[in-house]
Amino acid sequence: MQQFLQKLKTQPLMSGTSTGQAFWHSSGEEHLLDSYSPVDGQLMARVFPTTHEDYNQVVETARAAFLEWRNVPAPKRGEIVRQMGEQFRQYKKELGTLVSYEMGKSLQEGMGEVQEIIDICDFAVGQSRQLYGQTMHSERPDHRMYEQWHPLGVVGMISAFNFPVAVWSWNAMLAWVCGNVCIWKPSEKTPLTALACQQIIKDVLEQNEVPEGVSCLITGGREVGTWLAEDPRIALVSATGSTRMGKSVAQTVAGRLGRYLLELGGNNAIIISQHADLNVAIPAIVFGAVGTAGQRCTSTRRLIIQESVYEDVKQRLVKAYGQLRIGNPLEEQNHVGPLIDRAAVSGYQSALFQIKEQGGRLLIDGEVLEGPAFESGCYVRPAIAEMPAQTEIVQHETFAPILYLLKYQTLEEAIALQNGVPQGLSSSVFTLNLREAERFLSAAGSDCGIANVNIGTSGAEIGGAFGGEKETGGGRESGSDSWKAYMRRQTNTINYGTTLPLAQGIKFEL
Ligand code: NAD
Repeated sequence: MQQFLQKLKTQPLMSGTSTGQAFWHSSGEEHLLDSYSPVDGQLMARVFPTTHEDYNQVVETARAAFLEWRNVPAPKRGEIVRQMGEQFRQYKKELGTLVSYEMGKSLQEGMGEVQEIIDICDFAVGQSRQLYGQTMHSERPDHRMYEQWHPLGVVGMISAFNFPVAVWSWNAMLAWVCGNVCIWKPSEKTPLTALACQQIIKDVLEQNEVPEGVSCLITGGREVGTWLAEDPRIALVSATGSTRMGKSVAQTVAGRLGRYLLELGGNNAIIISQHADLNVAIPAIVFGAVGTAGQRCTSTRRLIIQESVYEDVKQRLVKAYGQLRIGNPLEEQNHVGPLIDRAAVSGYQSALFQIKEQGGRLLIDGEVLEGPAFESGCYVRPAIAEMPAQTEIVQHETFAPILYLLKYQTLEEAIALQNGVPQGLSSSVFTLNLREAERFLSAAGSDCGIANVNIGTSGAEIGGAFGGEKETGGGRESGSDSWKAYMRRQTNTINYGTTLPLAQGIKFEL
């Protein structure tokens, strides 16, 4: 690990100049970004934020690179992405450890994030030979119609702290095989993992003589993100983060009629029917609610339980929570690591207060842990609250391990509760009853982008399209046909005849 961190510090990555083909620019002298680890509170690095002048230079370099990159055949672009996947295989342990140390998720999940990068690289390689358009039969004789997909140009990516590297790869790998160039602005809370990714792919870009500017990194806070949103040179802004951020980005980008792709907050529920297999359901609930300390966009936040099994589920959960080990996420025996920072801890404490104010009862009370091994001040006890109804705090995404329990009688009531929040990311039902499962998946069922049966709300695979509805933003990333978001569609009509027949039978004679 030390060796890997040392490699990150080598020239020219930290010098603030261009890094060959992996273009990294960040030379602002003031307001250095301090990256503190929530694991032990240590200062990991101080990173230069990008100045506006630097930003303009990055965008111009990226634009120039696009003119070359768009002409590289897509399968050749795929081959370069394949080589990147190999690099990530090589550095899986080091990068996974860095993710865990900088963000605070368990080492298992840190490694899992790197595995997601590897998986999306593999997926993108195949996709590079499948950027299919359709052909249509023309109504005119001796005419042919078809559509094709072209790259957009510069794709700007704004990412959140909780998946510091995977979200970048979902976007970047597909955007690249589609022929775009990328400018990534990672979360100001996790700049080091982003630098590491640039460093890891640098050799591949150099060896393949990829033009400088195909992969760019800019660093800084919200203000740097707004530069991307405002800039008409950015063809697509793909933004992952809070709904508050998404609303701001959407309004700004829409103001210039640009394209955006939003992946925002979730408020995910599991319905536990009286027909559920609780031996499968309980570990899924606990993993979904306390994994990554409740800081996944797909974390399980609400449990909607049929009244006849309510007491049983409650008792099993209390028992399972009693076995949780909270502590250093780099130590494999621990289930729950820290929250990202003390501001997140305040948000957790405020939610606990509001639960009581809104008539909730804490079945397992939360607390901020103190003492040796908890010096960072970011470790909290996962809490469970019984709620009388879906009150204001339940409607809100608190990015911490708090699970709300709600009771229902009929499945219709459960689905109404599940859908009765502003967010629409992930959902699931546990039932062995076919009618219930199909009802939940039908048009009258879950209104979320992700709806599962007998698995939890989190832990999506890259093969499916990932994203959600309503305040989650409507975007889709990763698998299925998500690649289309990174391309523009062009309809082509070709006349190979000797006359000029017009569509709709219109006659125009000279
Ligand atoms: P955040 O909104 O505070 O920040 C996310 C990113 O947006 C950061 O890079 C930040 O600098 C930037 N940003 C903030 N305000 C901006 C603005 N007005 N204009 C441009 N950029 C701006 O979110 P966070 O705390 O880092 O992450 C947690 C949130 O992200 C949660 O709500 C979580 O559900 C969501 N999330 C969603 C998904 C998904 O796929 N749906 C995935 C991961 C995280």
